[in-house]
Amino acid sequence: MSPGNVPMILMYHAIADVAEDPHSLCVPPDRFAEQMAWLQRRGLRGVSIGTLVEAMRAGRERGLVGITFDDGYVSVLEAALPELRRRRFTASMFIISGRIGGSNDWDEGPVWPLMSADQVGQLAEAGMEIGSHSVTHPKLAGIDAALLRAEVAESRARLAELLGVPVRGFAYPYGSMDAAARSAVRDAGYDYACAVETPTARLGLMALPRLYIGHRDGAARMAAKRLLYRGYFALRGRRA
Ligand SMILES: [Zn+2]
Repeated sequence: MSPGNVPMILMYHAIADVAEDPHSLCVPPDRFAEQMAWLQRRGLRGVSIGTLVEAMRAGRERGLVGITFDDGYVSVLEAALPELRRRRFTASMFIISGRIGGSNDWDEGPVWPLMSADQVGQLAEAGMEIGSHSVTHPKLAGIDAALLRAEVAESRARLAELLGVPVRGFAYPYGSMDAAARSAVRDAGYDYACAVETPTARLGLMALPRLYIGHRDGAARMAAKRLLYRGYFALRGRRA
């Protein structure tokens, strides 16, 4: 992957209208619908990262935008899934294997429920890709080597057991990664991993950059973000 062909991958967490959202993790359902409609109007199709990676390998990623949801909030099943299906979009949902049926207890602030094993299964049955987001949601950069291996490999094994299919994708909690984390993800058998802000020198399937999409992103801001995102990598590419 070169800076000239970095695909656009959107990063979401919860899809809910909440009073208090100190970490800006929620996009209200109406706003999410507007954002998906914007993609469709532009002739873009939202797809899972597994699908996007296959398309990239075949040189057919034009017109595709990756859609991702981290943590596995119940609100994604309730509010995002119907909207995605209506538009025949798919997406990747990154699940914390040790918090299935629990809540976002790693964050300070409001507590939101995470999907049960049954609900994760419903997403998979609906054609969504299920990936791993570690066992307990730690920052992986600089973490002890044995813990790193466990977070990356055990979550993959647990989700594969739950779903009955191999798990191809990983998303680094907090986007936190270093060379050891990227190696651990590759060694555990994943095809790709999503980061957040990836340094240009690290661009690749083990560190796919993602674009944060929030509740303020209406059509105009979506368009501006898309242009800025492309421009950012194009500029880096010229400097490299
Ligand atoms: Zn997370």
